[in-house]
Amino acid sequence: MAKVKDTPVQKPRIGVYGFTGCAGDQLILIHTEDEILNLFAAADIRSFVMASSNPPEGDLDVAFVEGSISTEEEREHIQEIRKRAKILVAIGNCAVSGGPQAMFANDGSFAKRLRDVYGEVKFITDPIEAAPIDAHVTVDYYLPGCPIDSQQAFALISRLLHGADPEPSLHPVCHECKLHENRCLLLDKKLCFGPLTKGGCGSACPNHGLPCVGCWGPQADGNFRQHFELLQSFGLSKEEVFRRIKNYGGHKILEFIKDI
Ligand code: SF4
Ligand code: SF4
Repeated sequence: MAKVKDTPVQKPRIGVYGFTGCAGDQLILIHTEDEILNLFAAADIRSFVMASSNPPEGDLDVAFVEGSISTEEEREHIQEIRKRAKILVAIGNCAVSGGPQAMFANDGSFAKRLRDVYGEVKFITDPIEAAPIDAHVTVDYYLPGCPIDSQQAFALISRLLHGADPEPSLHPVCHECKLHENRCLLLDKKLCFGPLTKGGCGSACPNHGLPCVGCWGPQADGNFRQHFELLQSFGLSKEEVFRRIKNYGGHKILEFIKDI
């Protein structure tokens, strides 16, 4: 009797890309050595800029994209990736919100800042104002963080590879801070954005006595107006509170502060 051949199983095709940023999110994936070996076994890695010098590219089931879009060349590249990818996930603060390079997002000063820093030079590729990935293409899922948390990252990857929707963290940093039984920094009048910031980092900064600066991005149901009033009662002006939360809030924070 003829032997029945095993049906070849096509592994999900994955690409990992980096645009303008520090590459910290790709580093988090690579440094999680136990998990990265499982990932390479479970998926067909078609592109991983930091881990492979000879990526085969082609169509993708999932593209993970780090970094903000800051040049015309990057804008064309992300549009080309989007055409090839069934699912696109923005990973890290720069990709999700624009990153610290977008702290002056939409204030009209981009051309002046560019000229002040670089003068009248000719660029290899034209710079554009730094913006998150979803300013240029549709994003299916977001994985915030600066950098991302490896456990959250591999939980999301695992669910996507099994055909399930990722589960976003529903709680703010404050929730995780309470679980760690930290003394609240607000009691010492320290400017902590924990109540306004998405959870997922395990309250990494307040665990060490440092205020949260909001790098996981805005928590959608945060009471922004009330918390800003509290922070102003510590002696800060409204402008100073806004300036600080925009450091990591980029484009995403604008809708939360526009009416305050
Ligand atoms: S220290 Fe910050 S994160 Fe922790 S409970 Fe207070 S406001 Fe929330
Ligand atoms: S506590 Fe705030 S600033 Fe620190 S890692 Fe978490 S989200 Fe980022």
